Amino acid sequence: MIELKDNIVVNYDGTFYKCPGFIGHPELSVGNLKSGLEDYSVSHNLEIWKKEECLDCEYLPICFGGCRYMKLMRDGKIDGVDCRKAYLDAVLEDCIKQEIKYNLVS
Ligand code: SF4
Repeated sequence: MIELKDNIVVNYDGTFYKCPGFIGHPELSVGNLKSGLEDYSVSHNLEIWKKEECLDCEYLPICFGGCRYMKLMRDGKIDGVDCRKAYLDAVLEDCIKQEIKYNLVS
């Protein structure tokens, strides 16, 4: 959601966030219904995946630097990617097989 330009979460009080996980973190709000959308490119580290490691990674189209919320929870800040390459290497084949199996059944 962070990297997709047209995705916004509107909280009950009209505050905008780029991710539902960021609700409750006012420092990560990106505007509100009254004043409009603010620039969040620096605060949310947009395009943090534009580095050699990610640009060479086969998972980039499904990852784009991973989940900023998980990075925030783990490290207290979103100053880097949430890399799941090892996890994806381990489970992707089985996930695809499972998807094929159960989608063919349904
Ligand atoms: S899996 Fe890791 S290296 Fe690959 S695009 Fe995601 S963050 Fe970058």
